[in-house]
This record gives sequence, structure tokens and C-alpha cells, in this order.
Amino acid sequence: MTTADIWAALESVKDPEIPVLSVVDMGIVTAISHQEGGDAATVTMTPTFVGCPAIDMMKKDIYNAVKSLGFASVEVVVDMDTVWSSDRMTPDAKARLEKFGIAPPPTADGELTAEMLDRVRCPHCGSTDTTLRSAFGSTLCRAIRFCFSCKQGFEQFKPL
Ligand SMILES: [Zn+2]
Repeated sequence: MTTADIWAALESVKDPEIPVLSVVDMGIVTAISHQEGGDAATVTMTPTFVGCPAIDMMKKDIYNAVKSLGFASVEVVVDMDTVWSSDRMTPDAKARLEKFGIAPPPTADGELTAEMLDRVRCPHCGSTDTTLRSAFGSTLCRAIRFCFSCKQGFEQFKPL
């Protein structure tokens, strides 16, 4: 087993709320520690949103995925010191999120401006003529927006 095997196994662990994205795409897994040839592995993850209830579930899924590679000992460490940011998501992950029907968080190069926060593109029709309807969607991580162009509501993954 190599570290690459572990990363590959973690690609199969999906975010429970966003089945098109893995914990690797999300930037949730921050480190893997494994001695080549050894039978122990440690995976470090950072929780995304404090309000998201999925941490325990992801932790268990990560554990099971690595364990299934044949490691005798697997430890999943939740790193509360590393602050997760939506910038940790890969551009490819953001594109897949939009295809899934959820507007991805804007990519911030430094400070998020109010204008960036308000120019959210509708995942249905691509229009940026949208407005915030509710700060909280089906989970705390999401906001509900409405598109004036196609008259549909959609969820946005909040930038953080
Ligand atoms: Zn639209």
C-alpha cells in the first residue's frame, strides 16, 4: 500500500450532502501519513462547516475506505485548527457542483467583496440576475437564491 493508494481510496468517499464530490475534491482531507510498508495509516481531515452535521459520517467513511485497503490500524484525526475555506475546493469540483444544480462558492483571491457575493450565477440558465431569498437552505452551508431570468430557485454553497 502506498500513500497514492490511500488518496485513490478517499476519492470514493463522497461528501454525504454532495454526492458528486469526494472528500478529496472538497479539500476536506488535509494530510495522509503512512510509513511505506507499514500497516498503519493516519488521515487528517478538516471539518468544513461547524454547523454541518456530516463530520462524524465522513470520518467513519474515511476510516472504512482506508481500512478496506488492508491496513491494520487506521486513525482519522479531525484537525480543528486548520480552517476550511471554500477556496480549498478545486476548480473542477466547483464545476461539478454547478452541474449538480448548486451554485458553487465564488473563488476569492483574497477578500470577498460584496459585489462578488451578490453576483451568483444561476446553475440552471447561467444568468447572474439572481437574488438572495434565504440565508439558510437545506443545510447551514447553503443559501437559497432566486433567478429572475429563468424564474427558478436554486441553492448556493456559501463561500467561507
Ligand atoms: Zn436561471
